Amino acid sequence: MPTDIEISRAATLLPIADVAAKIGLGADATEPYGRDKAKFDPAVLPPRDPGKLILVTAINPTPAGEGKTTTSVGLADALNRIGRKTVLALREPSLGPCFGTKGGATGGGHAQVAPMVDINLHFTGDFHAITSAHNLLAAMIDNHVYWGNALDIDVRRVTWRRVLDMNDRALRAITQSLGGVANGFPRESGFDITVASEVMAVLCLASDAADLEERLGRIIVAETRDRRPVTARDLKADGAMAVLLAQAIKPNLVQTLEGNPALLHGGPFANIAHGCNSVIATRAALALGDYVVTEAGFGADLGAEKFFDIKCRQAGLTPAAAVIVATVRALKMNGGVAKADLAREDVAAVQRGGVNLARHIENVRQFGVPVLVAINHFGTDSEAEIDAVRAIAAAHDTQALLCRHWADGGAGAVDLAEAVVARIERGGGDFRPLYADDLPLLEKMRTIATRIYRADDVAATPAVVAQLARWEAAGFGHLPVCMAKTQYSFSADPALLGAPVGHVVPIREVRLAAGAGFVVAICGDLMTMPGLPRVPAAEAIRFGADGKIEGLF
Ligand code: ADP
Ligand code: MG
Repeated sequence: MPTDIEISRAATLLPIADVAAKIGLGADATEPYGRDKAKFDPAVLPPRDPGKLILVTAINPTPAGEGKTTTSVGLADALNRIGRKTVLALREPSLGPCFGTKGGATGGGHAQVAPMVDINLHFTGDFHAITSAHNLLAAMIDNHVYWGNALDIDVRRVTWRRVLDMNDRALRAITQSLGGVANGFPRESGFDITVASEVMAVLCLASDAADLEERLGRIIVAETRDRRPVTARDLKADGAMAVLLAQAIKPNLVQTLEGNPALLHGGPFANIAHGCNSVIATRAALALGDYVVTEAGFGADLGAEKFFDIKCRQAGLTPAAAVIVATVRALKMNGGVAKADLAREDVAAVQRGGVNLARHIENVRQFGVPVLVAINHFGTDSEAEIDAVRAIAAAHDTQALLCRHWADGGAGAVDLAEAVVARIERGGGDFRPLYADDLPLLEKMRTIATRIYRADDVAATPAVVAQLARWEAAGFGHLPVCMAKTQYSFSADPALLGAPVGHVVPIREVRLAAGAGFVVAICGDLMTMPGLPRVPAAEAIRFGADGKIEGLF
């Protein structure tokens, strides 16, 4: 099997104008970025009945990733293949992880979006713009303090850090403003990766340019000496930040390897943020296609829950169906098999691990969303193991469809596409978020922990309880919560696989993202600046003798 980059290079891409034309976007509506990328302004789209929104989510993943992006691409290609006009809506990859272990995030095998090198690296500059807007605000905080600190900012309580789109552990904690009087007041701070920036979350939840500026203004960056919040608006940074984001707010149009339209826009972390592409791109896709396939980060306990409770709630979106991606490998790991033994057939382990899939099926149904299972086929899967997954789905009153899009492109996911269309046409969906806006913040966390994670309870420290009460008094009690928990387990313990019960979810810390519009509950270690591994992928990335890029996978 050739590598992802080799498959991508061998594909013939359409000129981007031809892709745009497929969804009725004329030359006057698009702004080409080179030959195979374009931006467009969704405000120019004529109103029409929105398409059907399909969420691709997953069981709890193994460290390798279970193929949500790959399956999203395969499903969109398959839907187009069976004559349903479908637009894909995905996150833009972060540049930093490409040089570590994860590699790119443009799908895999014959189910990819292209041009993969551009998309994985600089793309159309959106992350650069977000980095700049974030760091402008940081510079304006220190500058405000330098020139007299009229707002009385307590420099020990500045929470706004700086960002960089790189995995660089050296910058996690820094001392800044060293070197004398001319350089300001020394203080501790640090860097996060750009995708962890609240500006990223804001861009992804904003409904339009005006709402973007409004949300930027609400971002809280520090506290005063008497502990009042200081916002970006107090610093008069919101206008300039919005100007820096003028191009970044427009969705990016690219294509799958089969020439179908894909909107890639925004890429918030799935821990400290909600982990899905922009509301603007999803709405544009719904205005352009009869079906829209989108992905949420991590497993369904985190990704789908936040997609429904944060994104769909804030944007008023109604998902028509959800597809849970499962792999035989990950089910075996959930059934207790070690990573090294995954190639050996073990039907009993698939059945044991099936409790994980079953719980995700039940959970998605709690939101009133019809659900199907996609078995993302790997070469090592046996027929008996695949049948075991089908049986788990059938026992939970749904269907698991075997998909070979990684090996065969859209043709490999036609069964899934037909099942999804049939399921949507059968109707019966009745989407509702899990909790009401007016539930107290801690009760929202408890509702997610008990109903989705099946924990006995949450355990919040007194400091957390007091903080939540202060935010409720300040008018933030109506916000949804954004859980930052390990993706590997329903519990807060990454080693507890399968379908654990009887656990308690610790709420160690809470953070207010007033611009994005959610309260983050930190239930374990939170990584907002990744590092590189001992042997980073960067060591193998180079131009080969033929001038072609190698090592980006
Ligand atoms: P996720 O979106 O869930 O993180 P991706 O779709 O990005 O996962 O896939 C993760 C990795 O697994 C990619 O390198 C992809 O090429 C690979 N992959 C996905 N599906 C398959 C498959 N069926 N067989 C082999 N490799 C696969
Ligand atoms: Mg993905």
